[in-house]
Amino acid sequence: MSVGIAILGSTGSIGRSTLRVLERQSDRFHTVALTAFESADELEVQARETGARLVGLVSRSGNSRASGFAQRQKWLHGRECLVEAATHPDVGIVVNAIVGAAGLEATIAALSEGKRVALANKESLVMAGDVVMRAAKDGGGELVPIDSEHSGVLQCLAGQTSNSLSRLILTASGGPFRNWPLEKVKNATVDQALAHPTWKMGPKITIDSATLANKALEVIEAHFLFGLSYDDIQVVVHPQSIVHAFTEFVDGSILSQLGFPDMELPILYALTYPERIDDSGVRRFDPVAAGDLTFEPLRRDAFPTFSHGVRAGRMGGTATAVFNAANEVAVHRFLNGKITFGKISEVIDVTLSSHEVRPADSIESVLEADRWARVEAERSCS
Ligand code: NAD
Ligand code: MG
Repeated sequence: MSVGIAILGSTGSIGRSTLRVLERQSDRFHTVALTAFESADELEVQARETGARLVGLVSRSGNSRASGFAQRQKWLHGRECLVEAATHPDVGIVVNAIVGAAGLEATIAALSEGKRVALANKESLVMAGDVVMRAAKDGGGELVPIDSEHSGVLQCLAGQTSNSLSRLILTASGGPFRNWPLEKVKNATVDQALAHPTWKMGPKITIDSATLANKALEVIEAHFLFGLSYDDIQVVVHPQSIVHAFTEFVDGSILSQLGFPDMELPILYALTYPERIDDSGVRRFDPVAAGDLTFEPLRRDAFPTFSHGVRAGRMGGTATAVFNAANEVAVHRFLNGKITFGKISEVIDVTLSSHEVRPADSIESVLEADRWARVEAERSCS
């Protein structure tokens, strides 16, 4: 039977890749709901092409398509559309491809309703890992990562007994400033930071990849998904982005999933997990074309944001929500030319250092920490 899909953030990089995967797999899946922040024109085209019945535009300033061009389509405006799409009765899988904290509510709502959430929006798990995992357990939902590193780990865990996982080594491309001297990194421009060497992604995660905040977010994501302590989650720089992670088992054996950097494969796997299905659209691997695979340590001095993120993970409770919020504020300010690249890590450090950690055991406590951190981070930006 064909499974109904909601794509939250369908106009973004992951959203568009998901639509390409679904187009090839139209006998297994059909698109029920689409949402975007403000790209009304693109959303309208997507809605027409997929036949989605529920279409949501978060920003109320966009053109009103409320009348719809087809009678059977329902257009919603405002952020409520996210939960409505995520909990639609005809939806079996929610692809959460929203960027940032805005994705949290929909992740929790979908899991509470027993849906599968194919999660690209790592920020929801970083902010509220315990709440999200509990929502899945209590609601009967299922969280399947789209992030390539975590998808790689999940694929290596297939068929293993529980408790056999002992350690993860996540790979990081190192971003555009991997070899830059420390002082030069601090003054990198927006254009330089947006020029990622291996992945084409939305602007926020591209900056996160340049500061390596993204890798810290992924360490925290792995902690919640796979239940490992922070001592057992390490990171190595691998500029070619071919090996997505090393998954170590208790006997010392290592398994890895490999592939060219292309998000369509982890998206497909998150939809079909634990099954694998044929997809001729995914670029096939060629070891000779991949060339030399190299590994080097992460330069913590040049990328202090990474250490602040892992520190937040170890602090636990509301600290990860604070790290995430301060990072979002600082990245936004950097992209608007208001602060330097080097200031991003300073803003995060100051905000995290002045935070009094509380248990992150409810959505309210997480959102309260998020709000507090945004105010503090804005203050230290100016
Ligand atoms: P993007 O900026 O290209 O797209 C973001 C999408 O979210 C857009 O459709 C936008 O309309 C929507 N959106 C933005 N703000 C919103 C808000 N306030 N409310 C509702 N919707 C909003 O981002 P992306 O690169 O596709 O990344 C999306 C998520 O996937 C991020 O969490 C990112 O970390 C994660 N991710 C991305 C990649 C990648 O290759 N792009 C890889 C791994 C993980
Ligand atoms: Mg990743």
